Amino acid sequence: MAVLRDVLHEAHQLLADANKGRTPYLDALLIASHVLQMPKERTLAMLPDHISKTQEQEIRELVLYRSRGIPVAYLTGVKEFWGLEFLVTPDVLIPRPDTEVLVERSLMLLKRFSSPRVLDLGTGSGCIGISIKHELPQAQVICSDISSRALAVCRKNARRILGSEEMVEIISSDMFEEIPGLFDLIVSNPPYITREEMTSESLLCRGEPESALLGGEDGLDALKKIVFQGFDKLKENSYCICECATVQADTLAGIMQQRGYRHISVISDLSGNARAVLGARDG
Ligand code: GLN
Repeated sequence: MAVLRDVLHEAHQLLADANKGRTPYLDALLIASHVLQMPKERTLAMLPDHISKTQEQEIRELVLYRSRGIPVAYLTGVKEFWGLEFLVTPDVLIPRPDTEVLVERSLMLLKRFSSPRVLDLGTGSGCIGISIKHELPQAQVICSDISSRALAVCRKNARRILGSEEMVEIISSDMFEEIPGLFDLIVSNPPYITREEMTSESLLCRGEPESALLGGEDGLDALKKIVFQGFDKLKENSYCICECATVQADTLAGIMQQRGYRHISVISDLSGNARAVLGARDG
C-alpha cells in the first residue's frame, strides 16, 4: 500500500527527468486517473489516500512507457478532441488540438447548406468527420481511409460518440478510388511530414503510424493528390480544406490556385501558425 501523493510525486519526477513531454505532472496525473478509473479531479482529491499494490505497479509500468516517449493517449486509450472523447490505438494518429481549426472552419462553411455531403479523407480515428457529424446531424458524412485498422477505430468512435456506426459512412479507399459521388466539402488531415522530419527522435519514439505522418520527400505527396483529384469530386460552389505544415501553406495555396480553386485562404491554428489551406470550387 502506498500513498497516492507519493506515487504521483515519484512519477512526476521520473517524467520530468526523462524530458519526453512538456507536461510531466499532467501526464502522471492522467496515467494515475486511468489506472484508478476516475476523472483527474477526483484523483487530485484522493492524494492523501492509499492505493493498492496492483494499482501502484500499474501506474509505475505506464509511467515507464511514457518516459520512453509513448504518448499518454496510447497508454490511456483515449484522447479528447472537439470536446469529445475519442478512442485511439497505435493504428491511428493521435488527434491534435490544432486540427480543431479544420472542424471549426468546416462548420462555418457548412452553415448555408441544408444537407451537405462531406468527405473526411484519411480519417484515422474519425476525429474530423465524427466531430462535424456530431455538430451537424443533417450532414451526410463519409469517413475514408486506406488503413482498415484505422477504420476499425473510426467505427468504434462513431458508435461511441454518435450512437451508431451508421451515422457516418465508413469507406476503405486509397485516396478517392472507392469514393462515390460529389461533395460540398472535402476535408483532410493527410500525412505531410517530410522524410527528414520523420527521422526525428521525438517523432519516432511516439509510435504513431508512419503511413499517417510521412508525406514523401517534401511532405507534399498526399496533399497534391488530394487537391488535384479532389477538384473533380467537388460539386459547384463547394470547398476543400487540407491541413498542412506551416512551411507548406504557401506552396499548397499555389498548387490549389493552379488547379482551379478560388477564394484560397490560409487558416491559422491556435498558436497563430498557418495550419491549413482552404479553397473553393466555384459554379
Ligand atoms: N501535425 C502532426 C505532427 O506534427 C502531423 C500530422 C500529419 O502529418 N497529418 O506531428
